[in-house]
Amino acid sequence: MSEDRKLAFETLQIHAGANPDPATGARQTPIYQSTAFVFRDAEHAANLFNLAEVGYIYSRLTNPTVAALAERITHLEGGAGGICCSSGHAAQIMALFPLMGPGCNVVASTKLYGGTVTQLSQTIKRFGWSAKFVDFDDEAAVAAAIDDDTRAVFCESIANPGGYITDIPAIAAIADKAGIPLIVDNTSATPYLCNPIELGATLVVHSTTKYLTGNGTVTGGAVIDSGKFDWMQNDKFPSLSKPEPAYHGLCFGEALGPMAFTFHSIAVGLRDLGMTMNPQGAHYTLMGIETLSLRMDKHVANAKKVATWLENDDRIDYVTYAGLESSPYFGRIDKICPKGAGALFTFAVKGGYDACVKLVDSLELFSHVANLGDTRSLIIHSASTTHRQLTPEQQEAAGASPNVVRVSIGIEDADDIIADLDQALTKATA
Ligand SMILES: *Cc1c(COP(=O)(O)O)cnc(C)c1O
Repeated sequence: MSEDRKLAFETLQIHAGANPDPATGARQTPIYQSTAFVFRDAEHAANLFNLAEVGYIYSRLTNPTVAALAERITHLEGGAGGICCSSGHAAQIMALFPLMGPGCNVVASTKLYGGTVTQLSQTIKRFGWSAKFVDFDDEAAVAAAIDDDTRAVFCESIANPGGYITDIPAIAAIADKAGIPLIVDNTSATPYLCNPIELGATLVVHSTTKYLTGNGTVTGGAVIDSGKFDWMQNDKFPSLSKPEPAYHGLCFGEALGPMAFTFHSIAVGLRDLGMTMNPQGAHYTLMGIETLSLRMDKHVANAKKVATWLENDDRIDYVTYAGLESSPYFGRIDKICPKGAGALFTFAVKGGYDACVKLVDSLELFSHVANLGDTRSLIIHSASTTHRQLTPEQQEAAGASPNVVRVSIGIEDADDIIADLDQALTKATA
């Protein structure tokens, strides 16, 4: 194929990062189930440790199977480089780690996955980091929240628990003006539906546990760097712009340019925090990604059909799916996620908390689980599960009120999904 041909998403999801195995010719990416990799000689070893040559040392840092996955997701997101991690939450810490220090803060959207709200509002305090939560539809408030100690802006593209789409270009412009990076969690949208880097994001994080793997088999995460942020533009990111004491004084920004973040994440982040993805897990995700576009098209088509049916049903108060014309975020689809608003949304059941619990217990096809992005249709009552550690105000802000259930619509037959909801709603609202 000619060098200048830009391969389509559907081709990259199968081929990017995966050449036939040079040793055996194996067509599928082998699972390199090895902790360590033999150095050719002492000079080779020294070059690897000096980052003068790229290669494999030890699987806490890099592994060929995991690297194939990182390269594939990097291609799909249009980034310069990326790393994989043990989970989506690990990826979030790995994204923040090179940027933050004690006393630093991140300005984050109120519309986030429940676990992320807890991670950012509570757990990161142990590192001396903090988060300020702002309504990202209020651009003036986002700009005002950024202070001298802010080191990142954080949001989700299509936000969990669904129905909200972030105006990424508007938020990216605010972050850019302040000289700080925008981190976008693209888990719910996937790079098939949304390209945060094209829209101005610096870093993209993923829980590969969800749609990228696609079938609920493994937990994993990824951080993809656009390579476009100038870490040297101010004094805010010393790990990247100044000699890094944790890596014999190497200045990553100077030595590695657009790959500074990626190499720092491997050489310091994965080396010392150890939030590493294992090769078996990477293999499952590589298999899943091969069919990502096919699955997402079906997820979106089913979600639209099911959401429309629910919206027209008397037993339902409201449906928050951005793919419905009634959604205040419907108008953002063309700009942010032109192939569709995903397959994650919430709906409010007449009868409140009790009806929601009964609905969840009466469904037969749907699984009641704390997961999303599976081939199977999933449901959860957020207020009593994923969002139960949040205050009532945080629950409300995150769209997880007591009368609301969240669904992740699978790729089964849409009419079967609707029939299951119909029979369970009858029992729940009897
Ligand atoms: C699941 C999820 C996470 C956390 O990912 P894990 O792989 O479970 O650690 C983060 N963000 C979003 C949007 C998610 O859906």
